[in-house]
Amino acid sequence: MPPLLPTRPLPQPLESTIGYLLRLGGANGFPSLTWLQAYRKHMGLPAQDFEVFFEQATGHGSPALLNLWGPSSALLPIRPEKRLGIKNTYWNLRYRRWCPECLREHGYWRAEWLLTLQIACPVHRRLLHELCPSCEQPVGWYSGELVRCRCGGELAQVARIEVTPPLQAIASLLSQKFATACERISSTLLSDSGLDLLLADVHVARLLELLWTLGCYTHHRALKIPLKVQHHHRIEVALPVLESAAQILWGWPASFQDFMAELSDPAQRQALDLHLFIGLHLKALSKALNHPELHFVRQEFERFVTANWRGVIVDRHRFTDQHLTAVQPVITGKEAAEILGISRKKVVVLVSEGHIQGWYPATKGSRRFLVVDRESVRRFQQGCSGGLFTLVEAARYLGTSRPRIRLFVAGGLLKPAFKPNEQKEHSAHWMFEQAELDRLLGGLSTQMHSTPDCDSLISLDQICRGRARDGADLVTLLQAIQAGALAIIARDPCQQGLKGLLLDRSRFNAWFAARLPEKQIFALAAAARYLGLKEHVLNRPGFRGGHFV
Ligand SMILES: [Zn+2]
Ligand SMILES: [Zn+2]
Repeated sequence: MPPLLPTRPLPQPLESTIGYLLRLGGANGFPSLTWLQAYRKHMGLPAQDFEVFFEQATGHGSPALLNLWGPSSALLPIRPEKRLGIKNTYWNLRYRRWCPECLREHGYWRAEWLLTLQIACPVHRRLLHELCPSCEQPVGWYSGELVRCRCGGELAQVARIEVTPPLQAIASLLSQKFATACERISSTLLSDSGLDLLLADVHVARLLELLWTLGCYTHHRALKIPLKVQHHHRIEVALPVLESAAQILWGWPASFQDFMAELSDPAQRQALDLHLFIGLHLKALSKALNHPELHFVRQEFERFVTANWRGVIVDRHRFTDQHLTAVQPVITGKEAAEILGISRKKVVVLVSEGHIQGWYPATKGSRRFLVVDRESVRRFQQGCSGGLFTLVEAARYLGTSRPRIRLFVAGGLLKPAFKPNEQKEHSAHWMFEQAELDRLLGGLSTQMHSTPDCDSLISLDQICRGRARDGADLVTLLQAIQAGALAIIARDPCQQGLKGLLLDRSRFNAWFAARLPEKQIFALAAAARYLGLKEHVLNRPGFRGGHFV
């Protein structure tokens, strides 16, 4: 066991570990950090952790350790939690960085100065320094003394360099987040400025990622992979990147929207492939910031895409594992072109503009082919929006029969634009507006579902086939949907009209179960299920009558 060092200064709030070792040596007559190597050899100390050495050499208990943060000398490695989850690239151990006024006032090295992206002092509102005022060289940790360069230059005597207000705000935020992470206290806002509110839930490690990524992507607009910037531990390299990040965050979200507008290609607004519109640069940026704490960036990104990209509908209709056969109401882009008598290119434009519905199914090869909803082609051919439908056409549009349409009208579900009088009711003089038919289909906003077979969904067709006798017939279901008791959540692209409407299975089951006891008259099968009996038992003479009350 080595003896305690003669002078044992206490660690100061948020002091850097490596800075403390320098100060500890200085207090005991060893001005340079190289003392550690010599001391260890002299004392015959084994390789050990910083924590063990600290207690043995100073006698201070572990509470004093709570003031020390950041990496230590390689000889005395520190526990990982002292790095606060911050990536090694953001810890700068190559050269020192400091605020001359802080150094003069307090005489110790703050841990946050080791962060590559902390380049200003939030207290003194000035740029940090990394060059000796005399020899103008970077100052390493193992050369020079506590506040003196190896050339003798005074590190605390450097002329002030101002920083811009956005950069100042970033430095304050970084400093505050760093302190919060060290003290493990819940984040308290410095102010209620927009920036502090926007980044309230962001940990310092993520803030560094955000600043670097956003800054690099906005500063180095021409580079494909701008994150690989050399020497980012140098203030002169980090400064313009941080300025860019600060400008974007300072004017959030308008500045970010402007930035995206500048980088996206307006000529590709209609492109089916989103990446053609946003370009590789924005695509990479949106991928880079995927931590949940940074979702506000993604939200802004999606807001931009939704507002500016016309290919949206198509992209959401991308299908996987869809078996496309001739009997299904899905045709190829080529067939659609033939039906419409136009070029395939024009079909692509019509799809991207939302006039007809189509998508690119996932295929194993790299070849992409367009498939199109046959019904949407027919609708388009008919002249569609605002068009009037006869009874036959309405039935085809809704994927149902003419008698059903009459039932819908009788049940108040559909209002015809024109209804022939009693004598002529059989004729095809009925008129329906398309908007009215679309309303029954759940409106135009209903999305295609990529996996309509999944267990969480049930289609109207399935329900009617299985439960119509028990009171879940098509008219009742549509009435419940219009009353808001049930909701259409998506469309099965392989089913026409009403048949393809998809409901949430568990919500339907709850609705259906709630209805069962209310019902006064049961069909045979339902009565048997309700009573927990076999159907043939109810068929016995005692139960005859067909209706059970
Ligand atoms: Zn300062
Ligand atoms: Zn010097």
